[in-house]
Amino acid sequence: MSSSPSYQKLRARFREAALLRSTEGVLGWDQETGLPPKAVGWRAEQMSHLSGLVHRLTTGREIGEWLGECEVAGFAGESTEGVNVRGWRREYDRATKLPAALVEEFSLTTSAGMHAWAEARKVSDFSAFRPVLEKLVRLCQEKADHYGWTTCRYDALMDIYEPGARSADIGALFSELGPEVAGLIGPAMEKAAAQPENLLAGHYPVAAQQAFNREVAAAVGFDFEAGRIDTTTHPFCTGLGPGDTRLTTRYDESDLFGSLYGVLHEAGHGLYDQGLRAEEWGLPAGDAVSLGIHESQSRLWENHIGGSDAFWEHWYPRACHHFPGLTKFTPSQIAAAARRVSPSFIRVEADEVTYDQHIILRFELERGLINGDLAVKDVPEAWNARFKELLGLTVPDDARGCLQDIHWSMGSLGYFSTYTLGNLNASQLMKAVRAAHPGLDGELASGKYSTLLGWLRKNVQELGQTLDPPELMRRATGETTNAKHHLEYLRGKFL
Ligand code: ZN
Repeated sequence: MSSSPSYQKLRARFREAALLRSTEGVLGWDQETGLPPKAVGWRAEQMSHLSGLVHRLTTGREIGEWLGECEVAGFAGESTEGVNVRGWRREYDRATKLPAALVEEFSLTTSAGMHAWAEARKVSDFSAFRPVLEKLVRLCQEKADHYGWTTCRYDALMDIYEPGARSADIGALFSELGPEVAGLIGPAMEKAAAQPENLLAGHYPVAAQQAFNREVAAAVGFDFEAGRIDTTTHPFCTGLGPGDTRLTTRYDESDLFGSLYGVLHEAGHGLYDQGLRAEEWGLPAGDAVSLGIHESQSRLWENHIGGSDAFWEHWYPRACHHFPGLTKFTPSQIAAAARRVSPSFIRVEADEVTYDQHIILRFELERGLINGDLAVKDVPEAWNARFKELLGLTVPDDARGCLQDIHWSMGSLGYFSTYTLGNLNASQLMKAVRAAHPGLDGELASGKYSTLLGWLRKNVQELGQTLDPPELMRRATGETTNAKHHLEYLRGKFL
């Protein structure tokens, strides 16, 4: 199969696209980290030129012919060739199924959408965003119809981010999770209230935070010979090629935790990136499988490792070295301060217990909008009512309610659920690796993370897109994604 001329042509073509995409990625990283303001226009032209090139390279009629030849020849589903051909087919179909006029209208509407959303949010008035959101929802419905779906239109949009995800399954999962989490919030808050708020208020110099973050990131296995950490307003991780993974974080000198947990989160994404097969980098066999699996890696290192008592027991001397004021506290006081539970209106500020409630709300509303069960004009009312049920709070205004996220204004409907899938997957993976390595907790307590990382490399990262996410989880943990293990983890940690 690998000697088939059409496979070789496809591989060469998509490798060229991967080179161009990663070049665009370098420009995007540079734009976020160090671009002079006057260079913005030229940078936008550079990047749009590159994406135009990639689009032409990956949508030509010949690609369809080569794919057809490979598919007729047949290939083993889990071979590198099989995985690549299947992934390219998916990408090719997605890129060629939409009529050019729809793509153009979508792009124009999202530009208008982001502007209208920003203005509407400033004055906290949903009605100013409503007309463009109505249009965006209609265009997303059209997109879904072009991609194709069987039982639920929303599935076609979720599939972009989470291959194989079905809203019936996710909906069932979330209906189990939501009420259980709602029941946890009160007791977890009571427990948090036993400790004084702002216990760790103090001054944490940026240079000391950077030094500590770097020690921790290196210890969990992030390879600084193949990556780096920079500073941006919005933290992210971007893989720019084999041997080049960039993380960013932000610093607040009054907060010990923000940059550290930001780095652990992004380093989790970065470890996935560094664990992909280098020789297939940028091709389906060497690319991440889904957002829900990606997020499982970041949540695992951020919450299960960084948020544990064992973490602070081990890192206490180094933390005190960098921040001498911490000697006033015990490791378990620091760990408890890091996991305070307090329901709030804003998703991105939510704690670990309440976070998924924010996601469940968005998933339900998006599904309703795309399936036609919810009218855009009814969004604020539906949002506020469901928010009250899930989090027990009365939303005071649209800015702190349905206008808080940028996603809908960009036409990005379909991926909120992957954040919660990430949380569920992380708990489930931790359960499985503990079962496979009974001594794991002892190792983690002494700051040894290589067994855990090695297991994740073998069972998740090195697979690329070999298995779709449900099958990946089934083989790694014995079950497809479910809520049981995450609920057990939350109860253990917060009650
Ligand atoms: Zn993430």
